Amino acid sequence: MKIQVSRIRWTALAGLATLGVMTLGGCSVNPATGKPQVMLISEAQEIAIGREADPEIRASMGEYDDPELQEYVASLGQELAAKSERAHLEWHFAVLDDPLVNAFALPGGYVYITRGILAHFNSEAELAAVLGHEIGHVVARHGANQMSKQQLAGIGLAVGSIALDPGNRTGLADLAGQGMQLAFLKFGRDDERQADNLGLRYIDRVGYDPRPMANVFQTLGRVSSAAGAPAGPNWFSTHPAPENRIELLNSAMQRMDGDFNGRPVRRNEYLTRLGGLTFGENPREGFFEENVFYHPDLGFQLTFPAGWKTQNSRSAVAATSPEKDAVMMMTLEDAESLEAAEEKFFTDTKAKRGRRFETGIRGLQSLGTYFEVDLKDQQPSRRILGQVSFIDHDQRIYRLLAYGKDEDYRNHDRTLENAVGSFRRLTDKKILSVQPAKMKLVRLDRAMTLEEFDERYPSTVDLKQLAILNSAEADTRFERGDYVKRVVGGRP
Ligand SMILES: [Zn+2]
Repeated sequence: MKIQVSRIRWTALAGLATLGVMTLGGCSVNPATGKPQVMLISEAQEIAIGREADPEIRASMGEYDDPELQEYVASLGQELAAKSERAHLEWHFAVLDDPLVNAFALPGGYVYITRGILAHFNSEAELAAVLGHEIGHVVARHGANQMSKQQLAGIGLAVGSIALDPGNRTGLADLAGQGMQLAFLKFGRDDERQADNLGLRYIDRVGYDPRPMANVFQTLGRVSSAAGAPAGPNWFSTHPAPENRIELLNSAMQRMDGDFNGRPVRRNEYLTRLGGLTFGENPREGFFEENVFYHPDLGFQLTFPAGWKTQNSRSAVAATSPEKDAVMMMTLEDAESLEAAEEKFFTDTKAKRGRRFETGIRGLQSLGTYFEVDLKDQQPSRRILGQVSFIDHDQRIYRLLAYGKDEDYRNHDRTLENAVGSFRRLTDKKILSVQPAKMKLVRLDRAMTLEEFDERYPSTVDLKQLAILNSAEADTRFERGDYVKRVVGGRP
């Protein structure tokens, strides 16, 4: 959970719904291929969609606080975009403060790349390859096309309020705003193949050695198949790999004439920029130890029920019962008072108020209320029971929501009341002062294998992860003068 209160914006969606009516039956030419495609969304509308969703993406995922790195990525992105078929668009590039290994683009020229993926590249040519791929999605209008298809099918994008259905994962997906849904649109394999080819075209035009592109896909594959890979939307969940992706790339490169030897890869120029990069989850933004959630920046702790499956996402912390029949989640509320927050909850959800209960939270103002919701329009019709508490801590209002199906919920009632009562101010100095892990670059004073390097310059990640980060194996030999990545610090 980050500090920002997630503001759920529906304006982009409302705009989208009317677009279909305005432009139904459009057919346009794909700017990358010159072939006609059904397109219900004009370029001006594409730009409007991107512009509308951009602030939400930046607010909910956070911009990485390093102006120099931002500028570096943006200028490389601009250079590539200028060589594309849609150079006339106003392009925007941002590094997001997110540990997940991902990159994505919005219609209209908005490209995002996470600090998590930056940590995994080993040259400027690799970064260029992924930026080029994302630019390719925008140029070929894959996002806009996807939205057009959904309009055609009459589906529209999912509108969520608070999902009062524990069967529906934890309802977290529905808390994401429209912009986030756009970010995680999943492309088809054909779109991926086309984006690969376009990316290749742009890095070739700028003059890089294109061969590292294949290496990038290898690294990303290793990341997603590594045990303990962080859960969440990553490159492979939003970019399904085409069959034989690397073979396809290699044969595309063979068709490009020219000798790539001697073309720049810019390994050292890239690696030296990664010194000090935040690596992995930032524990200051909240972390679990067993079932206790600590949030050093916000200064509180909360104990979720024992045995429940917990999850710390960008805008919420949640837990699901082992039987998956009840959910508890905490979010920050944008409200003036406890009463106002509670009022808003009952207005928004149309839930029926039940009795108040004593939250048991010591030293802080709080309000706890039971509620019920009749889902009459569902077959079979059923009832949701739950409780909602609001807590005032350090001038912020927290909402703790727990619910389940009627008969199931009653089994968890006491447990959940106890969990709510465990909310308290964080006073443990060691936890209050925790800092995230950072990436460091070491220039070797003699040749050594990665394993030897790890013994001499220990990391707080294991050798396997270190190998993925360095695009190497344990026995890969680095030369004197090479830069090698290590990770230091972080939560003990
Ligand atoms: Zn892609």
